[in-house]
Amino acid sequence: MEVGVLAVQGDFAEHIAVLDKLGVKAREVRLPEHLDSLDGIIIPGGESTTLSRLMTLYELREPLAQMAQEGRAIWGTCAGMIMLSSEITEQDPVPLGIMDIGVQRNAFGRQVDSFEQSLDVSAFGSDPFHAIFIRAPVIIRVGDEVEVLSQLGAEHPVAVRQGNLMATAFHPELTKDYRFHSYFLEMAADGKNQAHSRNEPR
Ligand code: GLN
Repeated sequence: MEVGVLAVQGDFAEHIAVLDKLGVKAREVRLPEHLDSLDGIIIPGGESTTLSRLMTLYELREPLAQMAQEGRAIWGTCAGMIMLSSEITEQDPVPLGIMDIGVQRNAFGRQVDSFEQSLDVSAFGSDPFHAIFIRAPVIIRVGDEVEVLSQLGAEHPVAVRQGNLMATAFHPELTKDYRFHSYFLEMAADGKNQAHSRNEPR
């Protein structure tokens, strides 16, 4: 199995370091051809307006949408989550539109409103996940196919999954708790097994 991390902007190095700790050598993705034969990709946090421009410049939009279509795993964290969404409450950035969620950027205010919070995550049992939010977006709409894995308070989903796609508003790569990365690797492995049973090359 091979996974990649989009390495054009943001905290991709931290994701690669976590995957390394889990024994997975991740590929840095900067160009469309770097996506070839990957079983999954992480789109990291950073600045979504910059990410958006670089994705257009490097012609990554179409191949990433294609990857989602093919059932390969994609996980966006923070700015990466913004890029996966279908709609944003402002004109810029332009999202990829591959996940059926609507988001609002910088929803908790500016830099001062970065915070940490323990979250219950349905997929992880009773042991809470310590989440770091940095100028985080919130999800303001979830489509019918979208499963909420965790939410902040009663109304803000902050971790969601839609089949082979996952989005988190916070930064699991900045903690020593690797459960989200392990969960993502399972998603990637499931996708690979399903493609294998359909006899699709990868
Ligand atoms: N506020 C950033 C944005 O809107 C996201 C911040 C982050 O990825 N930590 O793109």
